Amino acid sequence: MKAKFPISNFQFQHSHASLPLDSSLIGWLAEDMLVRDPEERDLSRIAVVFPGRRPALYLRRELGRLIGGPFHPPQIFDIDSFMAYMAGKSPGGSDRREAGQVELLHLVYTTARGLGADGEHLSLPAMASGFEGFFFWGLKFLDLFDEFGTELVPPALIKQAVPAALADAGITEEARGLWPILPGLYSKWLDTLAGNSLWSRGEKYRIAAEHIDGLEWPFSQIYLAGFAALNQAEEKVFSALTRLGIARVVVQDGPSPWRTSDAKWKHLERLRYVCHGTWDFKNTRPLATDPHRPTQTDQSTNQPINQLTNFFFHQGFDLHSQIQMAEDVFARDLKSQGGLAPDQEAVVLPRPEPLIPVLSRLFEDTAVPYNISMGYPLERTALAQLLDSTFEAQEGRVDGKYYAPHYLAVLRHPYIKNIQLHSPLTSNHQITKFLATPNQPINQSTIPSLRSVVHFLEVWLVREKRSFVRLEELEKAIAHLDEEDFPASQFLSHVHQMCFMAFEKLKKVGELATVLKRLLEWTVEYGTATGYPLTGEFMTAMVGLLEELEAGPVAEETASVPGLHSLFGHLVRQTRIPFQGIPLEGFQILGFLETRCLNFQRVMIFDVNEGVLPPETRPDPILPPDLRRHLGLPDKKQAVEISRYHFQRLLAGAEEVHLFFSEDKGQVKSRFIEELIWEAEKQAGRRGVIPIHSPVMVPRPRIPSAFPVKKTPQIMIFFSSFTFSATALDTYLSCPFRFYAKYILGLDVPDTIDRDEIDPLLVGNLVHNILREFYLPWLNKVIQFEADCDNDLVTKSDMALEGIFGPRAEWSGGVRLFREVLLYRLKNFLRLEREHAQGHLLMGLEVPCKMDFNLEESGRKVRIKGVLDRVEKDKKGLVWVIDYKTGSKIKLPGATVTSKISDREAIKQEIVSFQLPMYLLLCDQHYGLGSGWPGMNAALYGLRGLADSSNLNALQTILFKQDDSRDGIVEGIYVPALKTIIEEILDPETPFAHDPSDFGYCRTCPYSRRLCKVG
Ligand code: SF4
Repeated sequence: MKAKFPISNFQFQHSHASLPLDSSLIGWLAEDMLVRDPEERDLSRIAVVFPGRRPALYLRRELGRLIGGPFHPPQIFDIDSFMAYMAGKSPGGSDRREAGQVELLHLVYTTARGLGADGEHLSLPAMASGFEGFFFWGLKFLDLFDEFGTELVPPALIKQAVPAALADAGITEEARGLWPILPGLYSKWLDTLAGNSLWSRGEKYRIAAEHIDGLEWPFSQIYLAGFAALNQAEEKVFSALTRLGIARVVVQDGPSPWRTSDAKWKHLERLRYVCHGTWDFKNTRPLATDPHRPTQTDQSTNQPINQLTNFFFHQGFDLHSQIQMAEDVFARDLKSQGGLAPDQEAVVLPRPEPLIPVLSRLFEDTAVPYNISMGYPLERTALAQLLDSTFEAQEGRVDGKYYAPHYLAVLRHPYIKNIQLHSPLTSNHQITKFLATPNQPINQSTIPSLRSVVHFLEVWLVREKRSFVRLEELEKAIAHLDEEDFPASQFLSHVHQMCFMAFEKLKKVGELATVLKRLLEWTVEYGTATGYPLTGEFMTAMVGLLEELEAGPVAEETASVPGLHSLFGHLVRQTRIPFQGIPLEGFQILGFLETRCLNFQRVMIFDVNEGVLPPETRPDPILPPDLRRHLGLPDKKQAVEISRYHFQRLLAGAEEVHLFFSEDKGQVKSRFIEELIWEAEKQAGRRGVIPIHSPVMVPRPRIPSAFPVKKTPQIMIFFSSFTFSATALDTYLSCPFRFYAKYILGLDVPDTIDRDEIDPLLVGNLVHNILREFYLPWLNKVIQFEADCDNDLVTKSDMALEGIFGPRAEWSGGVRLFREVLLYRLKNFLRLEREHAQGHLLMGLEVPCKMDFNLEESGRKVRIKGVLDRVEKDKKGLVWVIDYKTGSKIKLPGATVTSKISDREAIKQEIVSFQLPMYLLLCDQHYGLGSGWPGMNAALYGLRGLADSSNLNALQTILFKQDDSRDGIVEGIYVPALKTIIEEILDPETPFAHDPSDFGYCRTCPYSRRLCKVG
């Protein structure tokens, strides 16, 4: 069959168009379609093919603007749908149907299995372990076969290329991997698809290219617009359509201020070469009618880069600092952003991970409309993380017992911990009562969800020192909280059923999918999952994937739990949630490829880093470079040049550009930025001509939710029974609001058994326990280290580790590694102690002390307390208070007798930490020393970082120096400072204010996200 319209009747006899790089492709196309008859309302016989989907929306909008009334739009395709359209019209194509990824994966598996069985071909080593061992390779084969299809690689060529590539690469018979199987498998694959009447993407391209010459066309004209580079199948289609005279090709090319003028885009040269017909090189854009677009061509292409005033580089140290800098740019014109045209503002995300932080930081608190157009990885969603944790819990199960950190990770997931309880108020009250500490909080928040049960279990597991636990034990532990209207254990048992037990006996892929689907439905029905942004889209994508796994022959495949986890993980990793970005208005948030063919007045691109833009190319385990070359497939390096083209085209068309990148922890700016800087310096003849902006770390202004908390009469009553510890006072010094949240609201973060296994708090407790047990034999005696005390330390350490992590046989790799590091530090500690503490009198170990402390104000007294890790008297009779530190921060007062301690700010600067000053007071009172402060000193012993080469100075940080006036400092500074700060806390007129001055402190603050929002 030939074309439906005789070629002589085509109105489409123009040459192809090469527009300037900075022109508006959409504007040009719309005008060109209407150039002969501006009144034309029926454009339905025109077809337009773009590389992607998004330009179709812009073209329809632009035509509507020019026509100014109703019209029949042209048929607009992206290249994939155009190939599918042609393939569907090809002989044998009309009866094929689209297959999903899972269906194709299983089909390639059965094809490979059949290949081994017919004895004609070698069998795949990966087949030995069934579907479980194969699917990873199956996914790779599917990608590869798609590339064979789009690049028109025939099976015969593969057969020839494999031996030649093997010989070239010098690869031996044993190491040849999967290469020899490729020709047979690909051949069979094509037969299988045809036999099952299915399409894959590659097959559509191959068939479309093969049958293009015989097709009928219902179109009078076809614009092939905005392509940068073509694969083999596309080349064949472009060549045939231009030979027929039905197609007009439109590209964007030419000089850019970002590139040396003589450099050519090689892929565009190639594209022109394969097209029949002549080319018209346009120098200016015909866009005078577009009110939104002042012409850029003359200005930008002739101007040196360093003189382009609307071009900005922003260097951060991570994504968050990039977003922080973007907030300033973004906020500038925010008030005037009503009714944004879709070609005004673009936020471009070359990798999708920053989408959620960008939305929450830039858009959440504004009324600015936005529109997302990109594929977001399903793997990044909270849903995927929940299912991942569920699998991990199953994989860590030993003899029916769950590993506590895995178990808690599932329960702590926001979708689970917010599952609603029947009678939350009663239950929380009960649980709060059970958990209350001596400093009973007066205002526990009541949260109507599983949260409080999770909190109870966290504390219970830590108290019981359980690293492995049975579900029934947990249900029993919580049973005493049961009430008629709150059956806590029954509720927990239901949670256990849904999140754990349902997964215990899974054998088949289909069973897994059903159980996962039920879990998701349950979180939707009883939880708060639907309240999270974009959950609808995420849930639809996940359920779609599970339904594919539940249906068809794949459901019957068996696999182990790790196998199911791995299969599911790979599929989730490959799945992108398509945000289509409709309606077309407001800020455009786009993936990098979604910017193709489009122009924007202001462009902000994040993550312009090497490895992101251009993306890094990973070694291909199936198709290494040698074999690619023999098959005539494009070198992956060409992808860099194509990315460069899209980048420069986007920049050239914009009036204002902001490029954000990170330079820290191995991240470097993209070569594309380096090239721009190099070009600018070359043009200017000197270095440093491009200014690079960095983030300015200033505390954010106070927001309404940060009003200080006034002291109510209830709070004042609470203080009447409060005992001040050094930690509480240090918290107040750093931030009064944090003190309020922790000690008055009682919103303390419980000791945790963390997912990372070794929690810093746990390390601290562990080291304290080991050292207490180690020194215990010398209590009230003189310390005399024996020759074998190293062994004793190892024994004590192992006992303490078993107490926390259970029997040695159950330790994970992380715990074993931690033991090695711990012993290394402790042995170095002991080496230094032998030289220093030998002969000291050990007066106390972990001594709990309390005392009354008199304030200035009307003889009022308060209680202060502390636990002294170690107290000893050295050979000169000096009493030492020693405190062990396992963290990196050593905080020591720097005050001298002349220090100013008038208020909290001054005390914070000078005293830094009340710990050692308070311990001196407590020690003096506890032991009734009465010998005066010159007879005492205090020291912090830092165990972190101790190495073979460390000396005593690395271990000890001593409070008083030789010449310090100890009486003057203790009586003249420490005691008055302590009084001042406690009096401020007790002053009803001084509210609990936020203090966000220390960025690092706020970053680790548990209240920073929800309660505070200031830091
Ligand atoms: S985030 Fe900072 S300002 Fe806010 S409570 Fe915590 S420490 Fe205070």
